[in-house]
Amino acid sequence: MVGEEGVKNTESEVREFSEAKRIVIKIGTSNLTDKSYRLEPRKVEKLVKEIVELKKQGKEVIVVTSGAIGAGIGKLDLKQRPRDIKVLQATAAVGQNVLMSTYDRYFAKYEQTIAQVLITHEDFFDRQRYLNLRNTLITLLKSDVIPVINENDTVAVDEIKLGDNDNLSALVASNLGADLLIMLTDTDGLFTYDPKRSKKAEFISVVDAITPEIERIASAGGKTSSVGGMKTKIQAAKVTMKAGIPMVIVNGGEENIFMRIIDGEPVGTLFMPKKRKMNDREHWILFASSPKGKIKVDEGAKTALVKRGGSLLPSGITGVENEFVSGDPVSIVDAEGVEFAKGISNYSSSDIEKIKGVQSKAIEQILGRKEYDEVVYRSNLVLC
Ligand code: GLU
Repeated sequence: MVGEEGVKNTESEVREFSEAKRIVIKIGTSNLTDKSYRLEPRKVEKLVKEIVELKKQGKEVIVVTSGAIGAGIGKLDLKQRPRDIKVLQATAAVGQNVLMSTYDRYFAKYEQTIAQVLITHEDFFDRQRYLNLRNTLITLLKSDVIPVINENDTVAVDEIKLGDNDNLSALVASNLGADLLIMLTDTDGLFTYDPKRSKKAEFISVVDAITPEIERIASAGGKTSSVGGMKTKIQAAKVTMKAGIPMVIVNGGEENIFMRIIDGEPVGTLFMPKKRKMNDREHWILFASSPKGKIKVDEGAKTALVKRGGSLLPSGITGVENEFVSGDPVSIVDAEGVEFAKGISNYSSSDIEKIKGVQSKAIEQILGRKEYDEVVYRSNLVLC
């Protein structure tokens, strides 16, 4: 396994995170609860102490935490984790309060102020909400406050069903242009097989591409006891890799875990992106926006976009699907209908229907106006 495509050897690996300034820490249910899913205050206490130490190094820390359902199970004295979604949501509503007051109690010992932020995936799809979230989080960080984020379980069930905030933490890291995402779990990282079940299990120290083999490992072996297991962690890694943000999956039970990561100790599995960090706008186009329609292009246009970094011109467009207006996010698909880019369209779907396949100089004659030569500017286009 080690040495295969996408996977690196430990000896060849140098980790350097001392310069990482903005760090998102995702705390899973298993990092905060006992075997019967009840909140264990001493686990919270340990993590709070280590987060405060990290912050003392001048880092900006954002916490994405689960555990509301666990705390609710304890508060309501339930015998087991409910199965019914609406009961889980209600349990989370009870537990969120307990979770936050437990965090607050321990952070207060260090005179550290925290803020509760409840979000859903939909908040990333709406440009205004997306910007509001970013502005609020940055304002909190500037005021020396640690944002403590959870999914708003009362109105959304994405992470209850599958994920335990894995996906959400990657979107938050990307939204904030974080320098590092530390994802705490209850195993040491990614293994080729489930280490609890197989002696063949080999530890994977660094992943630099999400290959089909990594996806197989995540869905077959390497499970954790958290809601999402490794599958949703790999989904999260896909987001951070594309966003150019390193992510470390690590055992939250390890002592002094954050400082060890910052000091470059090779703990956990590092997902190291090959590309530079994406800017806020690119992030929104690729992950957050929900395309309103599709623009179909020919091979020549695809090559110009993928290989030559060009803008999308009307001449290479062969068709358009669904209705959208100028300024809407769109999916750009090739002749086979496979999406290879997303972007913001300068023209509406009905305008594109009229100007597809023509040279830009003909736009004015056809539409009676020409605001742009390009249908999608390069700066508004991100390859998938
Ligand atoms: N947001 C949920 C929580 O904080 C997700 C975790 C779960 O489904 O157990 O409890």
